[in-house]
Amino acid sequence: MKFTQLRLAGFKSFVDPTELRIDAGLTGIIGPNGCGKSNLLEALRWVMGATSAKSLRGGGMEDVIFSGTDSRPARNHAEVTLVVDNSDRRAPARFNEHDTLEVVRRITRGKGSGYTINDEDVRAKDVQLLFADAGTGANSPALVRQGQISELINAKPENRRRVLEEAAGVAGLRARRREAQLK
Ligand code: ATP
Ligand code: MG
Repeated sequence: MKFTQLRLAGFKSFVDPTELRIDAGLTGIIGPNGCGKSNLLEALRWVMGATSAKSLRGGGMEDVIFSGTDSRPARNHAEVTLVVDNSDRRAPARFNEHDTLEVVRRITRGKGSGYTINDEDVRAKDVQLLFADAGTGANSPALVRQGQISELINAKPENRRRVLEEAAGVAGLRARRREAQLK
């Protein structure tokens, strides 16, 4: 499962539609302070189903919507699309007939957020499981926030274990067990 494109509109500082191609190998993002590098990583985390406002450096979920500048009014809507190459057929059975998956998350002020995969409405859980199985969820150890290393060192053992489970690729199994127990 490979990420091939990230598209943003109205998300944080990316008010205008922005398209980012992700090629094989290493991608570097460079630019002056405040140009939006971290916002791009947050967009990636958000579209994969991040629910913690803290991991998105905001107070509430609507803080991801462009909040306006001196010259431009705020928006009411934010949308992030992640295009995933599924030619290795790693997606869960329900989505696995597709070569390409377009995962979209949108949020509208006062109306909350929703997800689609290839235009089909899905739950946050479906998106989270899709990426958790591929070892690259919103809480994946591959995405390192500022301050996260010291948090890890000071973490309680059970929280540290959660990071190891993500790294070992079994986080999806734990989430599924929890869901099965709720039913
Ligand atoms: P640094 O090099 O300092 O780490 P950076 O390139 O990572 O900078 P970001 O932190 O991604 O920069 O971007 C910060 C900018 O995004 C700030 O100018 C901030 O005002 C803007 N920003 C964040 N959230 C929003 C929002 N909801 N609406 C509009 N602008 C926002
Ligand atoms: Mg930054």
